[in-house]
Amino acid sequence: MVSTYGDGEPPDNGRRFYRELQALTKAGGANALSDKPRSEVPDNADPGQSLLSSLSFDVLALGDRSYPKFCQFGADLYTTLAQLGARASAPLQTFDKSQLVNAAANTTQSWQLLVRQRLNSQTQPGLYLLRFTSTQPLPHWRAGDLVAISPENNPEVAARRYSVASVPQSNEMQLIIRQHIDEHSQPGLCSGWLTQDLTLDGTVNMQLQPNPSCHINDAQAPLLLIGAGSGLAGIRGHLSERIHLAKQARQTLQQPPGPVWLIYGERSADLNPLLKAELAGWQQAGMLHQLDYAFSQDPANPCYVQDLVQKNAAQIARFIGSSGHIYVCGRYDGMGSAVDAQLQLALGTATYHHLIEQGCYHRDLY
Ligand SMILES: Cc1cc2nc3c(=O)[nH]c(=O)nc-3n(C[C@H](O)[C@H](O)[C@H](O)COP(=O)(O)OP(=O)(O)OC[C@H]3O[C@@H](n4cnc5c(N)ncnc54)[C@H](O)[C@@H]3O)c2cc1C
Repeated sequence: MVSTYGDGEPPDNGRRFYRELQALTKAGGANALSDKPRSEVPDNADPGQSLLSSLSFDVLALGDRSYPKFCQFGADLYTTLAQLGARASAPLQTFDKSQLVNAAANTTQSWQLLVRQRLNSQTQPGLYLLRFTSTQPLPHWRAGDLVAISPENNPEVAARRYSVASVPQSNEMQLIIRQHIDEHSQPGLCSGWLTQDLTLDGTVNMQLQPNPSCHINDAQAPLLLIGAGSGLAGIRGHLSERIHLAKQARQTLQQPPGPVWLIYGERSADLNPLLKAELAGWQQAGMLHQLDYAFSQDPANPCYVQDLVQKNAAQIARFIGSSGHIYVCGRYDGMGSAVDAQLQLALGTATYHHLIEQGCYHRDLY
């Protein structure tokens, strides 16, 4: 059962598996057994037979039909397994995310909008911080988790997902939403509702979705946070988690959490002063050890977050070492894919793959 990530690629925890499977295909799967150490060769193996001829398989690919390469990894996996001699017992099966919406509808919680605050200037597509409260008992969640929201609370419409920007210790559910504007200047169904039509005190049903691949379980490890635009949501969630852990460590006289470095990008530098002050305050309090901004439409110094990764490559490699964590949040196109390429160059291929395999590279990209 497999998902697809980014531009039709495997998800991070499947990348190594797929790379090795492809290497077998390239090496000539039919003869690959003869290259294996003896201990890995089954006693009854015939070196001439296809490597996976004793395997029968099914692939169920989960995906989102609005992406051009819908379930591409599942399709590639299916073909690769067949090339290696495995026998498919059924055609490739695919499952679109919209089929899941109703099944999940009963686990939602109602949240009331307390505050909506614009984070960027009026000349840019709006980026808003939304703060919600709930009269129901607070659910548990972790930084990196997501919520699914049906536009205008209409369960017939496919839910949109948003990264949570707060931790439960704040007693609030916070989201950071970019107002999507289409080619006819119409606001997106869900982001338009949340950023302009939903009134204060209005309620939103949200379904919490745990996202364990974006949890950071080593509080002592250095943490590099990279994001642009609405990617600030997940970043703020992780920063809040570290701040909470630092407070806890002070109270219990334990070791404080590891250093945090934030690289954040927006189109222009005129961010809401409250946001800048909040980040600067965290930096002064020693919660945020380095803070770098990239403004892509800055007339004097246009710069993207991936440019900062390139510029600081050696420092990033030293900061991360062999066990630091990296979390990247925001759009895949433009930001996520370019940051990924620069990180691979900065860290070197071996460390890059090592970090992925150790679960130290977390990506919340959309
Ligand atoms: C894991 C995840 C986390 C996210 N976190 C955030 C967040 O924290 N903040 C934030 O602002 N947004 C986030 N998003 C994006 C968000 O889910 C919505 O896609 C966005 O708000 C636009 O929805 P809408 O209803 O306003 O626009 P729509 O009315 O859906 O219009 C959006 C336009 O984009 C197209 N479209 C919709 N979905 C997709 C898709 N998946 N791929 C390609 N085209 C598509 C539609 O066809 C339409 O043309 C996240 C998405 C994912 C998958």
